[in-house]
Amino acid sequence: MSVLQETASQKAIDLENKYGAHNYHPLPVVLNKGEGVFVWDVEGKKYYDFLSAYSAVNQGHCHPKIVAAVKKQSETLALTSRAFYNDMLGPYEKFVCEFFKFDKLLPMNTGAEAVETALKLCRKWAYEKKGLGENEAEIIVCENNFHGRTTTIISFSNDPVARKNFGPYTDGFIKIEYDNIDALEKVLSSNKNVAGFLVEPIQGEAGVYVPSEGYLNKAKALCEKYNVLFIADEVQTGIARTGRLLATCGDCSCENKGCEGTPDVKPDILILGKAMSGGAYPVSGVLADNHIMDVIKPGNHGSTFGGNPVAAAVATAALEVVRDEKLAENADRLGKLFRSEINKYIETSELVSLVRGRGLLNAIVINDSEDSDTAWNICMRLRDNGLLAKPTHGNIIRFAPPLVMTEAQLLDCVSIITKTLTEFS
Ligand SMILES: *Cc1c(COP(=O)(O)O)cnc(C)c1O
Repeated sequence: MSVLQETASQKAIDLENKYGAHNYHPLPVVLNKGEGVFVWDVEGKKYYDFLSAYSAVNQGHCHPKIVAAVKKQSETLALTSRAFYNDMLGPYEKFVCEFFKFDKLLPMNTGAEAVETALKLCRKWAYEKKGLGENEAEIIVCENNFHGRTTTIISFSNDPVARKNFGPYTDGFIKIEYDNIDALEKVLSSNKNVAGFLVEPIQGEAGVYVPSEGYLNKAKALCEKYNVLFIADEVQTGIARTGRLLATCGDCSCENKGCEGTPDVKPDILILGKAMSGGAYPVSGVLADNHIMDVIKPGNHGSTFGGNPVAAAVATAALEVVRDEKLAENADRLGKLFRSEINKYIETSELVSLVRGRGLLNAIVINDSEDSDTAWNICMRLRDNGLLAKPTHGNIIRFAPPLVMTEAQLLDCVSIITKTLTEFS
């Protein structure tokens, strides 16, 4: 890298350091262009994106169909607020409801807002339909969850970095071990005030933890038995990422019969975000059937930007891309290939202890202590070798490329990853 080249990246990094709050610790690479599975830095170096903005860019960077939708709608009508009707929202809501097979959508913007929406919806349902006493509703959550950054959400996180000195915390949550069906039954059978069970079908931020087979089905069955709402946070796992339209799949419109895993669960409340817009715009939403969503009345909840015409146009285009380009099927096929190739490497290596995941949401676990910086150093070297990934909690590296990847590109990435790991061992 020449001195001049160093300057462009360093300038951008220095500005962020000086004028931006230090709420992230980015990998030092400054991007200014993206197309499909690739991004470019300000010096013109090309990389495979193996994070996809935490699975927001499942459809690939700057997908022409999604970009066209942003352009067209922002030139026509961008925002009305919900004080008036607009001609985009209704058709969009119909499309999303038919796509995911629910009666109603409550449109929001970010994932955390959608989680908040689901929690409010669940509580109100519990008071008005289940008949719980005022302020008594409790919602079960899982240890090591990640549901976003709002005050209520971090109240039931157990990540000290996310929580410490942000109290006082919101009451009404019970934490149980993830992937432990007995722990769930124990709470449900002993506590009459449980309104819902909030769960990630695969724990993404925690390090791509895939629950044991049948866990989600059994959890849903228990929720039914105790009249408790099963709330799936599919902000990261949803929209084709795990090789099916939804990680809970359920009665979804995914045609992919050969996909992995057996969960076939329809959540009572489904939370979506991230890839709903393919990364072009913040779009999230909560889906539920009428008997639940009907508790929401005018004034109970809202958002100035939620369901705006640009969001409606963008999300429609983004979901059409997922369907038309068969991204769930591609993620399923390439994910199997990825894990089998990485497993071949693992047999020869001491450095990586395992690869796990579903579809193209995968992680490798580095065989080193949790507080070592090996995963970070590997990500730095992957960057040098043309592939961008980021460590998650512990010594774990998540691999989540855009789902528009081809098999040849994936094999190219596998060779970059294994070559880099070999440099380390
Ligand atoms: C990213 C994420 C969220 C929060 O989404 P934001 O858009 O960042 O607020 C919530 N739940 C899960 C599972 C996520 O991965």
